Amino acid sequence: MEALIDHIKEAESSNRAVGHFNISNIEGFWAVIEATLEVSEQAGFKVPVIIGVSEGEREFIGVRQAKALVESAREELEHPIFLNADHTYSFEKAKIAIDAGYDSVIIDGAALDFDQNVTVTKRTVEYARSVGSKTIVEAELGYIGTSSKVLDEIPEDVKVSKEFLTDPLDAQKFVEATGIDLLAPAVGNLHGMLKNAQNPALDIERIAEIRKLAAVPLVLHGGSGVSDEDFTRAIDAGISEIHVSTEIRRAYRDAVEKSWKDQIDEIAPYRLMRPVIDAMKQVVKNRLLLFNKL
Ligand SMILES: [Zn+2]
Repeated sequence: MEALIDHIKEAESSNRAVGHFNISNIEGFWAVIEATLEVSEQAGFKVPVIIGVSEGEREFIGVRQAKALVESAREELEHPIFLNADHTYSFEKAKIAIDAGYDSVIIDGAALDFDQNVTVTKRTVEYARSVGSKTIVEAELGYIGTSSKVLDEIPEDVKVSKEFLTDPLDAQKFVEATGIDLLAPAVGNLHGMLKNAQNPALDIERIAEIRKLAAVPLVLHGGSGVSDEDFTRAIDAGISEIHVSTEIRRAYRDAVEKSWKDQIDEIAPYRLMRPVIDAMKQVVKNRLLLFNKL
């Protein structure tokens, strides 16, 4: 089966983006798998998907257990399902994910200054290559916050005005200095989603400029709360992987509360959680349809 990077490049050349969805538990896992299979059936081809686990999520599931889950589904279903170690803030934790055989790892030095970010990113890339790992490395340039919550307002430390977006020349320098496979820029996106408003508009022109100079596929983080039109334009401008987390978490929380109320005497977790899987699945399906232009 083709590697993740091949699917990302294929998506890019056909103006699609590979969806990346975070999970915290087995319910999230099945929500993503079921959504992917249903969308693939509709599409008439095997739509690739990435399951993401942040440091907190993979400690909750188990670093190697997450890998075993995804690998078992990929083999059993013969479907391109991949696993990403999302936002990893130290080389040591990135190394653990690489050693565990994850398909990709994100070394997140976005809060560091440029040179420190280069240093930790380069070290991660060199380690992966030196052990002959197939793990591809994504890095972050430009700070977009760290929340996966529903927010009252844009966090104070997240700047979305033009001068704080990733500079295309910096992106070029960063990719050349580190040898990364994928770059996540700051292009008006932010982690988390706003409670009473749509998230700010993306800077589509900036995406195109960065893609041209950076010469590696681009990843869009903070996909929750972005308008459908912005997603489509961002994909056409050079985004080929999109992360969604907060929307799924909100669907989970709402569905848990409803399921508990609806089934007041039920104690079997698998019956209580079935509607919760369905609620998360619907979010993932909608995003996969949009990202794959279906
Ligand atoms: Zn992210």
